[in-house]
Amino acid sequence: MAKAAIVTGGSRGIGASICRLLGADGWNVVVNYAGRADAAEAVVREVEAAGGRALAVQADVALKADVDRLFAAGDEAFGGLDALVNNAGVIGRRGRFEALDGPVMEEVLAVNVLGCMLCALAAIPRLSTRHGGRGGSIVNISSGNAVSGGPGESVLYSVSKGAVNSLTIGLSQELAGEGVRVNTVSPGLTATDMPGEEKLAAIGPTIPIGRVAHPDEIAEGVVWLLSDKASYVAGANLRIGGGRP
Ligand code: NAP
Repeated sequence: MAKAAIVTGGSRGIGASICRLLGADGWNVVVNYAGRADAAEAVVREVEAAGGRALAVQADVALKADVDRLFAAGDEAFGGLDALVNNAGVIGRRGRFEALDGPVMEEVLAVNVLGCMLCALAAIPRLSTRHGGRGGSIVNISSGNAVSGGPGESVLYSVSKGAVNSLTIGLSQELAGEGVRVNTVSPGLTATDMPGEEKLAAIGPTIPIGRVAHPDEIAEGVVWLLSDKASYVAGANLRIGGGRP
């Protein structure tokens, strides 16, 4: 039977690549999105063209009722769950930390941190053998910013990704003995809408490898971590950064 994955923020960028590559590997994929139904439906068609089955589901990962509806839709469509990719994320307002305000902080932490935790909460009873699940895998998408801190530009975002790293460190140890491997992927600068054209063009040549990542280059690491080939990998933080620490 084909395995089933929920990919949050699967409509664009890195998440869309993860959905497409999972489809090519024969997975059934729930393509979650926040507002871009058109983009999510296009990814569904691409997954299907690659050989998998897919379903687009709108849900704000920061809202528990939406997350519960997202996971219920996956159960109904594919009869269970084998993997969660906590990929949905927002950057917030760029600039110095002192220019931030409460609502921006709440939004970034709600999507990037609370969203990952709510989705993990929904996934654990479905995956963990302790709850009668059949085992599986969770990949949390972090960022090199968790380590760099993003001074002058994205301290808030960096803080949120530091929390994502901690989530993996703790959860991986709680769940490894229950058939659930939890890992992090930390992408470097990747050609998506999030950084924008200007930043991609300016920073690309300064990266040791000489360019930014294509989203597929990040997705390959995620799909490997979800696969049985990574059967002994738990609690890892796979940095895919083109030589950038
Ligand atoms: P992106 O192109 O901006 O796409 C963001 C995705 O997240 C979209 O599918 C969007 O849905 C979805 N999303 C946003 N808020 C959501 C919410 N509240 N609930 C559900 N879905 C939501 O981003 P990306 O560059 O692919 O980034 C993907 C992940 O990689 C993020 O966690 C990001 O922090 C991380 N990352 C990115 C880079 C980079 O350079 N791009 C580097 C390091 C880490 P809609 O299409 O419906 O808006």
